[in-house]
Amino acid sequence: MEENSHPVVIEKWEGGKPHTGRVFAAVFAHSDDLAIFAGGLIFKLISEGYTGYFIKTTNDEMDSYDLSMAETVFRIYNETIEVTSFLGLEKLYSLDYKNHYLEHGQLTEIRHRLITLFRFLKVDTVISFDPWGHYEENPDHYITGHAVEQASWTSGRQLDLPELTDMGLVPKFVTRKYLVARGPQVVNRIVDITPVMEKKVEAIKIHRTPVDNMLRTYVDLHPGEKIEADAFIRGEFVRAAEKKYGVAYVEKYHYIDETESFSFLRNSSESE
Ligand SMILES: [Zn+2]
Repeated sequence: MEENSHPVVIEKWEGGKPHTGRVFAAVFAHSDDLAIFAGGLIFKLISEGYTGYFIKTTNDEMDSYDLSMAETVFRIYNETIEVTSFLGLEKLYSLDYKNHYLEHGQLTEIRHRLITLFRFLKVDTVISFDPWGHYEENPDHYITGHAVEQASWTSGRQLDLPELTDMGLVPKFVTRKYLVARGPQVVNRIVDITPVMEKKVEAIKIHRTPVDNMLRTYVDLHPGEKIEADAFIRGEFVRAAEKKYGVAYVEKYHYIDETESFSFLRNSSESE
């Protein structure tokens, strides 16, 4: 996807811990979304002082090639715990909605569960799907993106779920959003992942069951071709970046800083 006319910021490795005290939640539909879409960013933000959590919305029961659903859930749960630890995240929260059926009328319920977790964990940054990304075929992806978008701002408002305040979960806005999409989206943030490129490949390999499913599905679609997992992962998910960025490997995001959302007020006062 091209960056259109949006100014693009390249996030490089500056060292230090500029984000100490900040908390992100990576909110994805499936176990393997985590390392595939955002493994590099997660390593980087944690190295810079962030505390991170993984909130997974589905139970992944469909993501093996031909195992039983029970075996699939069991294996992927263990792999998810392993990759959560490998990436340096504090904890996995799995909401465990039925895989491939997230659109079955549960958007508000998911939003409320996210608000509760965002307030409890004091989340100020999310990494998730871009709800405005085009041509996404998987309802789990776009429903998760919409739920995260809704929860990010309602989490900070006094009149949304006011009973939570009495439970000690006070309103807090999510102000920073790193959003990914498989199809066209606004790209205005390029994250340099070069120093952790090999660790990202290792993280994706921990998703053994989904990767096996992808490989065998690939062979179904391309009969006669043979491909190894390592070459598949590097070819699909960790490709060398375009030269214009000046770094070898990147992840691309639609980045939103909500503290800039009232800039029209500041701009109008400046012009007086
Ligand atoms: Zn997914």
